[in-house]
Amino acid sequence: MGMLIDGKKIAQQIREELKIEVARLQQEQGVTPGLAAVLIGDNPASKVYVNMKAKACDETGIFSEKILLPKETAQQDLMATIHELNRDDRVHGILIQLPLPEHIDERAVLQEVDPHKDVDGFHPVNLGKLLSAKFWNELPPFVPCTPAGVIKLIESTGTKIEGKNAVVVGRSVIVGKPVAMLLLAKQATVTVAHSRTTHLKEICRQADILVVAAGRPKLVTADDIQPGAIVIDVGTNRMPDGKLVGDVDFEAVKEVAGFITPVPGGVGPMTIAMLLKNTVEAAKGMAAMLDVVGTTS
Ligand code: NAD
Repeated sequence: MGMLIDGKKIAQQIREELKIEVARLQQEQGVTPGLAAVLIGDNPASKVYVNMKAKACDETGIFSEKILLPKETAQQDLMATIHELNRDDRVHGILIQLPLPEHIDERAVLQEVDPHKDVDGFHPVNLGKLLSAKFWNELPPFVPCTPAGVIKLIESTGTKIEGKNAVVVGRSVIVGKPVAMLLLAKQATVTVAHSRTTHLKEICRQADILVVAAGRPKLVTADDIQPGAIVIDVGTNRMPDGKLVGDVDFEAVKEVAGFITPVPGGVGPMTIAMLLKNTVEAAKGMAAMLDVVGTTS
């Protein structure tokens, strides 16, 4: 039976370290990291996510602000809100909770966030830096949170990524593609599978490291796994009975895999930990900048 990768525990360790760093930043530089979360509309899952992120900020000593806008908010008003947050010195990180209502052009909105405050890593400048990075040490300051968490979970197994066959199922801009770029930067040989892929099972079976982010319950079964593989399940699917499940048939796959993440308690907690980390990094960047230019009062 494979070993469980305890995302909750690993995320908690990261959060404890960040708490100490935040306290030090406050004491030595007088800077309190701040995160603004913008939520448009009343999607219940989005509300839960924003509240979880705000609570995590509070527990880490990060200042957090929730900006709740009605569903019918016009795109230009949302952009005006983002411009205000770009100018707000208390705010080091801005997150726009996705998905946005249909009448809003998501890509246009994400471009308005100051790339220095783009703690979700979705601004084209940061995504472009991720694409152009050759190696891990060249990555942009803000790597998308879920993909960054996926890499930390793989590394927690003690397995070296370099030279491994990695398969990523899913090619979204927020999960699949950045995960693939990060694995490349870590020197894996990467295959990206998606909804039009033929022979998905054979491809998955080649994987030493399998990351599944498709949003399809039980897409990956025990037959699709190379014995001993590392399996990271990003999927979160709410079943009719209210249960949250991943994309991997956990009970069967855990018997074949070397390491596996559960859902819940795997990737999810890591996403939040990485968001907190990016916010602290943003605040440190700002503090370093103030150090150079000096403050005016
Ligand atoms: P998405 O819908 O944007 O993308 C899904 C991807 O999966 C697409 O690229 C599609 O081509 C591929 N796909 C769909 N059906 C497939 C199939 N049958 N075979 C192969 N590929 C298939 O979704 P997303 O935003 O990338 O999220 C993926 C999943 O991860 C969702 O379940 C989402 O809820 C979850 N998620 C979890 C976290 C977390 O923190 N735990 C964060 C983000 C997303």
